[in-house]
Amino acid sequence: MQFLIMSFYKDNRALQKRFYDTKKWKQLRKAYLIEHPICERCEAAGIVSVAEHVHHKIELTEENVNNPLITLNPENLEALCFDCHRKEHHNLSEVADDLFFDENGNLRKKVEANQGAIGF
Ligand SMILES: [Zn+2]
Ligand SMILES: [Zn+2]
Repeated sequence: MQFLIMSFYKDNRALQKRFYDTKKWKQLRKAYLIEHPICERCEAAGIVSVAEHVHHKIELTEENVNNPLITLNPENLEALCFDCHRKEHHNLSEVADDLFFDENGNLRKKVEANQGAIGF
């Protein structure tokens, strides 16, 4: 059972990484952050924080990753600061200690980071 869960997450992350690497996404993300420079959740609470991540409200899965109405729809996006984004994903995962967000707001394993990316 544990193996099945692990491989599910692995597949999801692989397809998410493929998507977050696309030019279309990088352009949209940039444009979205220019339009929404302030974290939307902090703003709603009256706090001003710089948005660093563009979060998909509906998580990308095998079923929707090819659907631009999910992946590239501004309605499904949320500009978040580092803390709000971390909290959002912490709710989804209790193993957050060995996870982090890269510069694309992508959830990644620290082990993976050591193989190339800079990490925090
Ligand atoms: Zn925030
Ligand atoms: Zn996110």
